[in-house]
Amino acid sequence: MTNNEIWQAVLSEVELTISKANFNTWFKNTGIVSFQDSQVILCVPNTFNQAWIEKKHHQQIIKSLERITSLPIRKLEYKIENIKNVSELTINTSITPPTHHQEEKAHISPIPQAAPLVSPGFSINPKYNFDNFVVGKGSELAFTAAKAVADRPGESYNPLFIYGGVGLGKTHLLQAVANELLRKNPQTNIMYVSAEKFTNDFVTSLRNGNARDFQNRYRLIDALLIDDIQFIAGKDASQESFFHTFNELHQANKQVILTSDRPPKAIPALEDRLKSRFEWGMIVDVTAPDFETRVAILDKKCQEKNFPLDIKILHTAATIVQSNIRELEGALNKIIAYHQLKNMTPTQESVKSLLSSFDSSSARRSVTSTQLIETVCGFYNVSTEDVCGKSREKKLSFPRQVIMYLLRNDLKMSFPAIGDELGGRDHTTAMHANEKISREFENDLKLKQEIELIRQRLYINNI
Ligand code: ADP
Ligand code: MG
Repeated sequence: MTNNEIWQAVLSEVELTISKANFNTWFKNTGIVSFQDSQVILCVPNTFNQAWIEKKHHQQIIKSLERITSLPIRKLEYKIENIKNVSELTINTSITPPTHHQEEKAHISPIPQAAPLVSPGFSINPKYNFDNFVVGKGSELAFTAAKAVADRPGESYNPLFIYGGVGLGKTHLLQAVANELLRKNPQTNIMYVSAEKFTNDFVTSLRNGNARDFQNRYRLIDALLIDDIQFIAGKDASQESFFHTFNELHQANKQVILTSDRPPKAIPALEDRLKSRFEWGMIVDVTAPDFETRVAILDKKCQEKNFPLDIKILHTAATIVQSNIRELEGALNKIIAYHQLKNMTPTQESVKSLLSSFDSSSARRSVTSTQLIETVCGFYNVSTEDVCGKSREKKLSFPRQVIMYLLRNDLKMSFPAIGDELGGRDHTTAMHANEKISREFENDLKLKQEIELIRQRLYINNI
C-alpha cells in the first residue's frame, strides 16, 4: 500500500465519525509525508488544523493506521506543509492490508442466488422476538405493523419505517421480524445491518474494488433491515448506493425495514428522494412507556431472569426510571446483581438508594459544555466551528440557540459564560436565545421532540 492509499483508508474511517462539514474543514489537504519504523508524519495545511486534529483525532488516527496496516504505531507527528509538495514517491515497503472482511466474505457464495447470502446467525440476536416484547400504548402500532410485515413480507407495508428515541425497542422489533421470518423459513436471506455498517461496507468495497460483491450482498436478498438509518445522512455516496439498492429491492417486492431516531422529514442532510421513498410505506413511532407498561416490562424481565420481585419494588423502580426500556433493564440488572452479591432481600429503601444514579438530574451534572455543543452540532449536522463562528444563517443560528438554551437549563451556566463558549458572543444574545427557545418549546412539538432526543443522546451515555 502506498502512503496515499493508507491515508485514504484512514480518512474513509474518520469520515464516518464526524459531520461532513467538520471533515472537510479539518482533513482537506492532509496526507502522510513519511511512514517509517512505526513512526508516521502527517502533513497538515496549517497550525489550526494541526491543533484540532491532534486534540480530537490523534488516538483515532493511530488506531485506524494500526488497523489498516496491521503495524503498531509508536509515534504520530505533524508537519505543516502544502500537500502538493508531498510526492507520491514516498512509497512504503510492502504493507499488505489485513482482510477485515474475511468473516463477511465467508457468507457470500460464488453463485449468490443458490444459497443464503447471510447465515441466519449473522448479527441477528435470537433473544429479540415478538413473544418477549411487552406491548404498551407507546409501542402498540409499531408492534402491530412489525407483525404484519413478518406475516406478509413485501406485501403489507414496504418499507416499514420505525422511529423513536433511544432504548424504546426499535432494534428489538426489527430483529423480531427477522427471527420470525427465519422461524417460518430458515432459508430466508435477511440482511440486517446498522446504517454505519452499510456505509462502512460500501466504503470498503470501493476501496478494495469489489463493488459487485457489495451489490450482490445487499441486493440478492429477501429482506433488508437497516438499523439507525439516520446515520446515512450526509454520506452522499452511501445514500446514492442505498437509493439504488432500495429501488431494486422494492421493485422486486422484497421487504425493507428501517429504524431511526426521528421521522424521515426531520433528518437533516437526508436526500429528498430518500425521504419520499421512506414515505411510500408505513411510518410508525415508538414512544416512552407509561408507568403501567414499565411495571409490566420489569415484571416480565424478572420472570425471564427467574428473580421474582415484590410488586412494590417494581413500582419503586418504575417510578425512578422513566426515560426508556434499556435503562429500565439496566436498573433491574443492578438491583439483582447487588442483592445477590449481598445476599439480601431487596427493600424499597435499598432499591431507592441503588437507583439514585438513574435520576436524570445527577446525570446532567456530569456532562461538559464541549460534549453538549458537539452533541447538538452532530444532531443538526453542522460543524462546531461554524456554530461558534460569525454566520447568522438559519442553519447555524438555530442549533446555536438550542445550545444556549441547553447550556442554561441543563448545565446551569451563566449567560456571559454561554456567550464565551459560543465564540465570544454577548450575554444578551444568550439571554434572547434562551427566552426564544423556552417559548417555542411549549408550543412546537417538533422542537420538543428534537430537544428530547438531544438530551437522550447526551445523558444516557453518561449514566
Ligand atoms: P432501541 O433500538 O430503540 O434503542 P432496543 O430495541 O435496543 O432499543 O431496546 C433496548 C432494550 O430494551 C433491549 O434489551 C430490548 O430487548 C428491551 N426492550 C425494548 N422495548 C421492549 C419491550 N416493549 N418489551 C420488552 N423489552 C423491551
Ligand atoms: Mg437500536
